[in-house]
Amino acid sequence: MPDRADDSAGPIYVGRFAPSPTGLLHFGSLVAAVGSYADALHQDGTWQVRIDDIDETRAVPGAAEAILHQLEGFGFSWHGEPAYQTQRKSIYQEIIGKLVSDGLAFYCDCSRKDVLAAGRKGPQGPIYPGTCRKMPPQEERRLTVRLKTDQASIKFSDRFVGQVCQNLAFDVGDYVIRRSDGFAAYQLAVVVDDHLDRITHVVRGADLLHSTPRQIHLQTLLGYGRPAYGHLPIVLDDQGRKLSKQDKARPVSANAPVPSLLAAWEFLNQPAPDSPIGTTDEFWTFAATNWNTTSLPDPEDNLLDNQTEQD
Ligand code: GLU
Repeated sequence: MPDRADDSAGPIYVGRFAPSPTGLLHFGSLVAAVGSYADALHQDGTWQVRIDDIDETRAVPGAAEAILHQLEGFGFSWHGEPAYQTQRKSIYQEIIGKLVSDGLAFYCDCSRKDVLAAGRKGPQGPIYPGTCRKMPPQEERRLTVRLKTDQASIKFSDRFVGQVCQNLAFDVGDYVIRRSDGFAAYQLAVVVDDHLDRITHVVRGADLLHSTPRQIHLQTLLGYGRPAYGHLPIVLDDQGRKLSKQDKARPVSANAPVPSLLAAWEFLNQPAPDSPIGTTDEFWTFAATNWNTTSLPDPEDNLLDNQTEQD
């Protein structure tokens, strides 16, 4: 299993932004990027970009390059080359295989329909009824893999939300770490990535708040350290749904970047500049000094109770 080389010498703050290349960045993704980058700058940290392209069925050709171009236009500057999940597929598969051979995960041939019909309704979607955990299927190659959950409660303190507690078996159930089409699931990939990239601080949208206990559970099983988590309020559309690249939410234009950066800043309830800001450099210098996590709006005020695109 791959491991970090030497944790003792690492920097104190390594943040990241991990867009999925399913379309161009919209205002919602810009808000997450601004929050994550401002937090890293404020703490003199480094900041990386990772392209979450593991789901090749949803990746839009050219979107990764276009997103990087947008980020450049907004004056973001990242450390090193962006990482791509598609370059780590064999690492994910090796880890999934090891979790199965250690008895921590199992193959499953239940369809979504089976789970919906037999599963109890949970806050994050139907709870897996345990069918294949009790009676494993024969053919293993292309099947879903689920991680076993137990009744222990997972607790963590989110930097912006406060205490979060989830009982995985009760609220989520045995969850998918490899999909039936063979791709590693987001929950597995993100944990391995954050570990390989030595991420110390995850700042992202609150639509992923209720995925975090699953990620902490996996980190524990794999013996990885836990980054600090901070979940930001998410931008909703007129119908109260999270803006989505797939739904073609209006992309932000880097042609006139400062007004969009200021709008994202204002959405995050950050202190208004007292003199006009003309360039992205001026914006980021101001943001690095003035970022204030205590004035962030409560992310749970606009949290969705349905599943996110990552589930
Ligand atoms: N790739 C996810 C997204 O675009 C973010 C994943 C994460 O930050 O953990 O919403």
